[in-house]
Amino acid sequence: MPVLHWFRRDLRLTDNTALSRALAEQPGHVIPVFVLDDALLRRRDVAPARVKFLLQSLADLDERLRQRHSRLIVRRGDGQDQLLALVRETGAHALYFNRDSTPFARARDAAVTTAMHGAGVRVESHRDLTVFEGSDVLTQAGQPYTVFTPYKKAWLTRPRPLPADLDEAALRFDGPLPATIDLPDEDALGFACTQRVQHGGETVALALLREFIKSRRLENYAAQRDMLSEPGTSTLSPHLRFGTLSPRICVRAAEDGALTVDKAQRAGFDTWLSELIWREFYYQVLFHFPHADKGNFKRNTDALRWGNGNAETDQRYFEAWCAGRTGYPVVDAAMRQLNAIGWMHNRARMIVASFLTKDLLLDWRLGESYFMRQLVDGDPASNNGGWQWAASTGTDAQPYFRIFNPRLQSERFDRDGVYIRRWVPELCDVADRHIHAPHEMTPLEQHACKCVIGEHYPAPIIDHAVQKEKILARFKALDSAR
Ligand code: FAD
Repeated sequence: MPVLHWFRRDLRLTDNTALSRALAEQPGHVIPVFVLDDALLRRRDVAPARVKFLLQSLADLDERLRQRHSRLIVRRGDGQDQLLALVRETGAHALYFNRDSTPFARARDAAVTTAMHGAGVRVESHRDLTVFEGSDVLTQAGQPYTVFTPYKKAWLTRPRPLPADLDEAALRFDGPLPATIDLPDEDALGFACTQRVQHGGETVALALLREFIKSRRLENYAAQRDMLSEPGTSTLSPHLRFGTLSPRICVRAAEDGALTVDKAQRAGFDTWLSELIWREFYYQVLFHFPHADKGNFKRNTDALRWGNGNAETDQRYFEAWCAGRTGYPVVDAAMRQLNAIGWMHNRARMIVASFLTKDLLLDWRLGESYFMRQLVDGDPASNNGGWQWAASTGTDAQPYFRIFNPRLQSERFDRDGVYIRRWVPELCDVADRHIHAPHEMTPLEQHACKCVIGEHYPAPIIDHAVQKEKILARFKALDSAR
């Protein structure tokens, strides 16, 4: 009897929990299905970059299935309707999928499960998006963690689930598979993508991970990861976002690597593992505190006033930030990197998020939503967590006076201005000593390097020292109102 495996954010064959279970229980009878869900495609935060990456990943998945004598069955429309239609067409008696804990996915999956039960179809869902999920890691009092470090300590004590085996022979479908539609391209779906985004698919993901390990970037991660111009991080985030790579395999790579070196040399592996645990942390935060999806995680910050008291100024600041024209070179480089390739270095994300909220005094939700519309790795949990961390409305254990100084960040993490010059070409010929604050050049110096401030490159749109005092006063007012 056939069963359906419903692919969603697990677009891979290797270490796919629900798929492996389906194959173990019904070898030769698993129909691999993906539904291009109109409800998802209509959402306002859909990024063309992610649509492109998704379609590439689906094509790769189909190819990998075909190599194993199966095929991806693609349907388009309402997820629930399409799955029910497939059940009617094929007589499938069970539906397998891997759980997704975002508020949207939980509501969708609950509705699909009810509909399937109504049709007499068994539903089996599995943990797979993260190593641990929901209430797997709780405090001794049975409460969810709200601070990262104790969460991480508890996470590390839990025995890790083993990667799932893939029975390749069991993929060969016994009989004719149902009809599929051709995969459209992103233009046909109305999402023309102008960004140079990295390529999707499990094949690329596995190669990237292998290269990250082989080139010793994983081993050197702790020392290199904050350097803006270096390829010090894995760039695997879109693959973890779409499940073209399993988080368990990443965790295993870090833990196995750590075993090959002396304790003193473990920092790279340990730090990378820590970052993977941040991802898990933000998922469990969103699971237990769904109000944080749209609102402040710390409810006492609801009274915080955002904005500059003038809608036009707010709009001007926001547009300058989006376009990378704030007059702060590191901020502008980062925003232009995002706009060009749909991805931004983590340190840069922290800098621009702090700048939007603490310097431009704008609501973090504006930045979160702009990121979501640009990022190839745009992820509801990590994006929300990162933005609320930067805005001091989230889970950060630090008090609100974490305010990044963009110039100091720039001097520290892009000392020679390599990152700035890569993304802001009008600053190419600016001397090293002025690269972090080009407005300090004399008119003569500006002409000499063909970068006249106000003409070729903007003067800073705000004064960091002045804005810092304003945001501090607002947070202090919050405290005294308590
Ligand atoms: P690596 O440094 O190689 O880390 C490995 C993996 O760990 C990443 O691929 C990612 O899955 C995870 N990870 C690393 N750092 C973090 C972190 N701080 N929080 C959560 N997970 C982490 N990450 C997203 O995947 N999607 C987002 O939409 C997203 N939005 C962010 C918004 C802001 C304001 C901030 C400050 C951070 C955001 N992050 C987001 C986290 C982080 O910036 C990216 O995961 C990272 O830059 C991806 O690059 P990488 O794959 O080379 O990461």
